[in-house]
Amino acid sequence: MYTETKNIHDCCGCQACMMICGKNAITMSVNEEGFAYPVLNSDKCVRCGLCAKVCPGEKDYVREAADPDIYAVKSKSGEVLQSSSSGGMFSILSRWILDRGGVVYGAAFDESFRLSHIRGETDRDILKMRTSKYVESDISGVYEAARSDLLAGRYVLLTGTPCQISALLAWLKMRHVPTDTLYTMDVICHGVPSRKVWADYVDILRKDFLPSGHRITGINMRSKKVSWEKQEVAATLDSGEVKLLSDFSFNRLFLSLNITRPSCFHCRYTSYQRVSDFTLGDFWNFDQARLRFDPRGGVNEVLVNTAKGRALFEQVRENADIQPLTKEVAWQPHLEYPAKEPAGRAKFWNEYLSSEDKKAVISRYMKGSFVTRVIHAVTPLLRKTGLYTIAGKCYKLVFGKK
Ligand SMILES: Cc1cc2nc3c(=O)[nH]c(=O)nc-3n(C[C@H](O)[C@H](O)[C@H](O)COP(=O)(O)OP(=O)(O)OC[C@H]3O[C@@H](n4cnc5c(N)ncnc54)[C@H](O)[C@@H]3O)c2cc1C
Repeated sequence: MYTETKNIHDCCGCQACMMICGKNAITMSVNEEGFAYPVLNSDKCVRCGLCAKVCPGEKDYVREAADPDIYAVKSKSGEVLQSSSSGGMFSILSRWILDRGGVVYGAAFDESFRLSHIRGETDRDILKMRTSKYVESDISGVYEAARSDLLAGRYVLLTGTPCQISALLAWLKMRHVPTDTLYTMDVICHGVPSRKVWADYVDILRKDFLPSGHRITGINMRSKKVSWEKQEVAATLDSGEVKLLSDFSFNRLFLSLNITRPSCFHCRYTSYQRVSDFTLGDFWNFDQARLRFDPRGGVNEVLVNTAKGRALFEQVRENADIQPLTKEVAWQPHLEYPAKEPAGRAKFWNEYLSSEDKKAVISRYMKGSFVTRVIHAVTPLLRKTGLYTIAGKCYKLVFGKK
C-alpha cells in the first residue's frame, strides 16, 4: 500500500487506513494537486497490518468475469428524472430506504461547494445527493456514522465510487458490524478530479462569470436544461436565474483527464465483477438497444450484482420503465479498463501550479487533447452505427499498452 510504496497510483484517498488504525498512527496530507495521501508515524505503528487489509488499492477485480443482470432503467417520476444525472435509479433505491426509516449516504456540496458524503434521512437530503459531481468526495464522515446506523438495525444505502464502497465494506467487516440491512450502490467510474482545481474553478465563476453582487446558490454538473445528452454545467443564482456555463465547463476539464486522481488510471475496479449490490451508469447506447420506451430525459444502465440486489430490484422495478440489456449492448470502457492518463498531464500541472492566471490555464486545457477531442466527436456516430464496442476494444489494444 501507499505508506510502503509511496506510489501515488496505489492510493484512492478513501482514508480507510486512517480510520481503522487503533494507534492513530496514520494522518492524511494533501499534496499540491489537492489529493490526500496517508502519512504513517512509524513511532506509533505496531505493524498489525490492518491498514493494508482495509485498503481498496490492495484488491484487484480487473479481468475478473461476472454475469450481473443488466437493465436500462428510467424513473416514471418526472421530478426525479429532471433532477438526476441519468434515469434516477439512485433516487428509486433511496425512496425504498427512506420509506423504511432508513439512512442514505451520498455526495453533496456544502454552501461553499466543497464536496463530501453526507448522511440523509429526508427527501431534502436526497435532493442534495442527486446528480454526479465530478470532484473527489470526502467520505471520512461515513465510517462511524454508518456503523452506528447499522448497529441500530436501520436500513442503510451506501453510495459512491467503487473504491469508496470497497473501503467502507472492508472497514465495516473488520469492525464486525452486521450488514443484513446494508445495501450498496457504486457508479461506473471515469475517475475523480482534484478538489483543489474545483475550488479554484468555483472562485473564478464567482469573480468572472456571474453578475457581480449575486451569490451562487447551486451548481449542477448534469443540468438537463438543454438535454440529458449535453451534460451542461449550470449555476443557479440567488435571484433564481439559472446560467449555463457551456463556454467554461468544468465537465470538459474533467473529460480531458488532466485533473483526475492518479490512482484512477490504475483503477482495480474496472470490470463486470463489482463490489456493490448495484452499479449505475448512463446508458448511452439506446439506439442499439432498441429501447421500448423514450430515452429522452435520461436512462440508467443498472447492473444488479448480488442476490440481495436482485430481491430489492424486484420490489422497486414498478417505479421505472425497464428493459433487460445484453452485456454487449451495455458495454462501457470502464467496465473493462481504466481511463488512460493523458500524455500532457504533467505539463498541465506544471503550468497550472506556476501560473497566476488559473482561468487561462483551465480554458486552454478544457479543450482536451487531440485524441480526446476525436473520441468525443466520433462517439455518437459509433453508437448509432453499432461500432462503439469494437472501437472501444481497439482503443484498448492500441493505447492500453502505451
Ligand atoms: C465521478 C463520477 C464518474 C462517473 N463516470 C461515469 C462513466 O464513465 N460512465 C457512466 O456510465 N457513468 C458514470 N458515472 C455515473 C453517472 O454519472 C450517474 O451518477 C449514474 O448514472 C447515476 O445516475 P442517477 O440518475 O441514478 O442518480 P443521480 O441522482 O445522478 O445520483 C447521484 C449518485 O452519485 C453519487 N455521487 C455523485 N457525485 C459523486 C462523487 N463525486 N463521488 C462519489 N459519489 C458521487 C451520489 O452520492 C448519488 O449516489 C460517474 C459518476 C461519477 C460521480
